[in-house]
Amino acid sequence: MTMNAQGRPTRSDAPTVNAAPTFTGNKALQIEEALIFEVGHFAGTGVDLPEPNGGVDRLGGLNRNTDIGLPGLSEPETMRHFVRLSQKNYAIDMGPFPLGSCTMKHNPRLNEKIARLPGFSDLHPLTPEAQCQGALELIDQLAFWLKELTGMPAVAMSPKAGAHGELCGMMAIKAALEARGEAGKRTRVLAPESAHGTNPATAVQCGFIVDAIPADKTGRVDLAALKENLGDDVAGIMVTNPNTCGLFERDIRAIADAVHEAGGYFYCDGANFNAIAGKVKPGDLGVDAMHINLHKTFSTPHGGGGPGSGPTVLSEALAPYAPVPYVHFEDGKFSLVETRRAAKAEGESAKSLGRLTAFHGQMGMFTRALAYMMSHGRDGIAQAAEDAVLNANYVLSRLKEEMTPAFDGYCMHEALFDDGFLKDTGVETIDFAKAMIDEGYHPMTMYFPLVVHGAMLIEPTESESKRELDQFCEALLSLAKRAKAGDVDAFKAAPLHAPRRRLDETAAARKPVLRWTSESSVQAAE
Ligand SMILES: *Cc1c(COP(=O)(O)O)cnc(C)c1O
Repeated sequence: MTMNAQGRPTRSDAPTVNAAPTFTGNKALQIEEALIFEVGHFAGTGVDLPEPNGGVDRLGGLNRNTDIGLPGLSEPETMRHFVRLSQKNYAIDMGPFPLGSCTMKHNPRLNEKIARLPGFSDLHPLTPEAQCQGALELIDQLAFWLKELTGMPAVAMSPKAGAHGELCGMMAIKAALEARGEAGKRTRVLAPESAHGTNPATAVQCGFIVDAIPADKTGRVDLAALKENLGDDVAGIMVTNPNTCGLFERDIRAIADAVHEAGGYFYCDGANFNAIAGKVKPGDLGVDAMHINLHKTFSTPHGGGGPGSGPTVLSEALAPYAPVPYVHFEDGKFSLVETRRAAKAEGESAKSLGRLTAFHGQMGMFTRALAYMMSHGRDGIAQAAEDAVLNANYVLSRLKEEMTPAFDGYCMHEALFDDGFLKDTGVETIDFAKAMIDEGYHPMTMYFPLVVHGAMLIEPTESESKRELDQFCEALLSLAKRAKAGDVDAFKAAPLHAPRRRLDETAAARKPVLRWTSESSVQAAE
């Protein structure tokens, strides 16, 4: 009888025929699944409609005369295809998702229930205001609590992700500089070396030049270096707090003051707000603009890359430049201010930077985020932040037996390690991450932030129980011991048990095959 580290039998001692490939390619319940283009037949579909008989052709000769080229499957075949694919996916509903900076927390089912209420889920974005007062009130209430939690006077609700919120904030900064007649002069934006890639990307998108500010020995912004870089050509600074090393920027007030004195604005990347929500109000730290990732801090699902939601809070100085539309409440009625002219008529700002999206933002995410806030309450939100920090510090202190923390001392909501413990083992961060897949874990964030060599950034969030964290830590400790014991070949070969072995990530990035043709499946197989 073979036992696993959890003391459970994994295999009987009865002789087994050695794992020969199966006829189907399936491995028990792991079903090999081809692309839908390969299994679908172009002639058929899942619906069985009678041939049209006559009727007036209003297409004016534009009728399609070739096959549409979409794969056709019956309803049960379609269902099985997508369920099988979904079972190859790792999900927060299956186990811990320790991706640092991403805040993969549990998505409470209560939120899903509320979001599925027909009054919310069936609304069309062009529903007349008189018929969607409840939905507008919900947006307004969520906006109220976001302002309350951040201590900021205004919030733009329409940005659809964190990066989009950054764009909103930086466009507001640009608009404010234009109003001051300084847009031509203030061309530089400062960002720490540890910044998330979206920060410099956003600044460049808005036409700024980005200058990197080094970190000090403790992993925080080097205040002296920052001050040296300030001048009357600086539009502002973009700082994440807690930062991407999982550390609170202790000098944050001094940073804000120095930037303001130099005439710039302070953009705070609020992706890590989940570590301080209910404890610290960014408005008290001198922030001018900050996005909040509802899909991180407020537990709404990340989905397959979307939909997210990135409401952006704005200071008194930037509020006049907020994008349209926004919800307005007067005489007991909610309405949407859709244009700059309408804003002026309302006696509000005519300086709006304009429109960032069609419609008003991600309604489904607003509903879920408000449900999360209401079910947690003021004290519950603060406790979620405390528990996230506690869990990260538990992971940090357990893993430092075998792994090397990047910085000394306690962390906030995520624990950062470098690859020091792998020195001379031949095993690299990527091999370590791939071996985690074999153990049934989604890898942590790798090679980010860039300021740490071979970085491994682990964010457990408040969702994980001690039992879950212990098992995770024991798995990582055992991997670290194996790496040090010289098991390098096994690490280089990992993952062994995943549906696909190690992929050529460089080729995937450099030569992506983005469109299926009958040849591309042959190409990919080669
Ligand atoms: C996630 C994240 C972003 C970007 O947010 P998206 O919602 O993914 O666009 C920006 N900065 C940091 C630090 C992040 O972790």
